[in-house]
Amino acid sequence: MMNLTHENIKKTKSNINFPSELFINGKYQKSISEKYFDNISPINGEVINKVFLAHQKDVDLAVSIARESFNKGHWSNLSPGQRKKILLKFATLLERDRLELALLDTIDMGKTINDTYNADLPTSIDNIEWYAEIIDKLFDDISPSSKEYMGLITKEPIGVVAAIVPWNYPLWMAIWKIAPALITGNSVILKPAEQSPMSAIKIGALLSEAGVPDGVFSVLPGDGPITGKSLCLHNDVDCVAFTGSGEVGKLVLQYSGQSNMKRVQLECGGKSPNIIFADCHDLDAAAEASAYAIFGNQGEVCSAGSRLIVQKEIENEFVDKVAKLSKNMHPADPFDPESFAGAIVNTEQLDKINKYVNIGKEEGANVEVGGNITMKETGGSYFEPTIFKNVKNNMKIAQEEIFGPVLATLTFSNFEEAISMANDTEYGLAAGVWTKDINKAIKASREIRAGTVYINNYEEGVDTTIPLGGYKQSGIGRDNGYQALENYLQVKSTWIKIT
Ligand code: NAD
Repeated sequence: MMNLTHENIKKTKSNINFPSELFINGKYQKSISEKYFDNISPINGEVINKVFLAHQKDVDLAVSIARESFNKGHWSNLSPGQRKKILLKFATLLERDRLELALLDTIDMGKTINDTYNADLPTSIDNIEWYAEIIDKLFDDISPSSKEYMGLITKEPIGVVAAIVPWNYPLWMAIWKIAPALITGNSVILKPAEQSPMSAIKIGALLSEAGVPDGVFSVLPGDGPITGKSLCLHNDVDCVAFTGSGEVGKLVLQYSGQSNMKRVQLECGGKSPNIIFADCHDLDAAAEASAYAIFGNQGEVCSAGSRLIVQKEIENEFVDKVAKLSKNMHPADPFDPESFAGAIVNTEQLDKINKYVNIGKEEGANVEVGGNITMKETGGSYFEPTIFKNVKNNMKIAQEEIFGPVLATLTFSNFEEAISMANDTEYGLAAGVWTKDINKAIKASREIRAGTVYINNYEEGVDTTIPLGGYKQSGIGRDNGYQALENYLQVKSTWIKIT
């Protein structure tokens, strides 16, 4: 493992070859149309490279090759144990190229090298290893039927999977889809977000090097309306596994209905409540976790604790603590391993955050901390950690996903009010509950309509073992855990007559 020093970062950065091509059938190639888009780094606003944009014909080619490889069983017919060895090798290659991959994500979307190198890469590697290690330990079922018949319930790969992913954790979100999809024997086409295509393109070669047969894995960089939509409407794609906004998630569902009724798994947005009861046993720990939950990764986190719901009598004390901590969470040079936060992904996202801060002011909330675009001299996109007080739950800044470092603080007087406020949202991805009363914690966890509830922590222990996904408009299906395998498997029932 390479140490994350300034010198190593500089050396690796100066030798990077920025990936820009499509990866189809085990080879890098230009798009058939030879169209490309400018890939801009939000760190300084400069063009990094020109990345080829996959059009309909490229999608058709990648899908037909994926289908052929699936039908021929090059990968799907390998034993789980054989696939396991190949994915474990892939994990070692990610470790070998860890700094390069981390830098590609940092350069592409602006998050810090500390985050990409020390969080995104190790968690991606862990995810691959976890799925590789469980796949040859799972058994199918036999039904408890009459003596004359034997009923087998077996699982089969679904076929061709398109994984469409966002930019906030470019490699990690891609691995959440492709590790369980590949290990179950499917052919996979990965479409990274247009803001962060490079690490996805790079792993095409690494999967080949690990031993995944040509055609089984492709990468199609491109945009949503052309590349993503073509994949979703394709009649020979069996499943779209999508992570991104609810708005696009709804389109993906429509595309499925307009084409072959392909399976759709969705991980969408959130406006997650983080409830601090006055009887919380450690307000310092709660404040630290609450600050991290909204300012970590520049607030560009689906499950960010963006609504801080605090019991009235501790509001001032608690918000002061979070505000104090936020002073050390300002953005700084993303290549400095000491920086806490980096750049916002692009100017559009920066403008959106700024717009919401102005809306919050117009709605009558008070900016307690921050509220401004910063580091303009870099040419990049940066925003200060921002805390609003006096927010009402019907305000836009309490209801709409901002996807930036903006915290909305609300208050409550009793348990029922806290839970009702927490649930009063179209989303249901995550929630935090801080109390020393175990009964209250369990009751809150049962009553909050969210896929994940953190009790006396916020996202601290997250790993591959536990499924992640949403209630309500935060999604359908789950990533992570055994549950994610279900996204990529068909259930086959076989009745055998015993004569
Ligand atoms: P987005 O919806 O704009 O894009 C996501 C992906 O969909 C991209 O690859 C994009 O190119 C593609 N896309 C866009 N339009 C499309 C179309 N018409 N057809 C098919 N594909 C299309 O989201 P984003 O801005 O990249 O990411 C931020 C969103 O992702 C936030 O809402 C965030 O909450 C969500 N997210 C959710 C999770 C989760 O686990 N629930 C994790 C990370 C991010």
